[in-house]
Amino acid sequence: MTGPGRPLEGRRFAAPRPRPGGAVLETVASEVCGTDVHLHHGRLPGVPYPIIPGHVSVGRVVETNGPLSDVGGNPIPAGALVTFYDVYGTCGACWHCLVARAATRCPHRRVYGITAPAGDGLLGGWSERIEILPGVRLVPLPDGLGPEDFLGGGCGLPTGFHAVERAGIALGDTVVVQGSGPVGLNAAIFAQLAGALRVFVVGSPRARLDAARRLGAEDTLDIADVPNPEDRVRWVRDRTSGRGADVVIEASGNPAAVPEGLEMLRDAGRYVVVGQYTDGGDVALNPHRHVNRRHATVLGCWGYEFSHLHRALAMMRRHDARFRWRELVTREYALADAAQALQDMENLSVVKALIRPQSGRN
Ligand SMILES: [Zn+2]
Ligand SMILES: [Zn+2]
Repeated sequence: MTGPGRPLEGRRFAAPRPRPGGAVLETVASEVCGTDVHLHHGRLPGVPYPIIPGHVSVGRVVETNGPLSDVGGNPIPAGALVTFYDVYGTCGACWHCLVARAATRCPHRRVYGITAPAGDGLLGGWSERIEILPGVRLVPLPDGLGPEDFLGGGCGLPTGFHAVERAGIALGDTVVVQGSGPVGLNAAIFAQLAGALRVFVVGSPRARLDAARRLGAEDTLDIADVPNPEDRVRWVRDRTSGRGADVVIEASGNPAAVPEGLEMLRDAGRYVVVGQYTDGGDVALNPHRHVNRRHATVLGCWGYEFSHLHRALAMMRRHDARFRWRELVTREYALADAAQALQDMENLSVVKALIRPQSGRN
């Protein structure tokens, strides 16, 4: 991806060799997500184009430079099927890391496929090989989970997990999720696993809402059918004895969803904003009605830490028979069709899309 609005280009790079403590993966599959669409439109600041997109990927270890182990100390041999925590450079030494203990806000943090310049190596999954830098944590896929299972969750898996952790859901809570993309769908899953009695999803289009119901949402509301926000708020209140939901998780990406979601929240409820990954502009809030008098708790949620990936994957292993994440993968693309994948993701005709760099190779 050479720059905002520019066509994708296929480029050849020298085959990478692992640095001491690093590894090289042969890419099995990499996800296509909303972030890639934002990147292609230049909606994220500080992106060092050209980049190799694909921040969440699965590959096979081709070569290591020194022994590698997982977080539990078990060795990771060549040939292992792995994913990896897609963040590197978090310093562990700055004010954000040490004082605020907010590692996802460390100014040195970089992310494969997003803030990694192509000039620094094969640091993105839309590539036949991926270079694992020293210190980047490899995570073997648990027995019984394949690349399609994990990537059916993709970055939405740890992100939705993190949002639910932030929400502090109590047993028996009623939860509304705004947005039916991968983050919203995974938030709906983890809300149930966290003890929510009822989950409602407000989103679009139909196929994503069908997925939400399959994943356990009690009911869904298609914003295309109900374009008036006041009607959507009434829909939630009709289902919550007029009081509103205990927890509302915003995973829509639309700034206007925030005041709307606060209207869906009960008094003393908790509101988590995880969908505003890019700056979509300003909206009007009524501080008295939306926050102060409502006695609301409003929380932001930026990125995810290794802990979220690790625990979300363990939860996937335990609950995959129920949620069948791989069914969220709508379509797979060869590297040469990456532009089509971006377009399909942008017009929401796919829930989750995968790039298969080894397919169509000659
Ligand atoms: Zn730091
Ligand atoms: Zn992603």
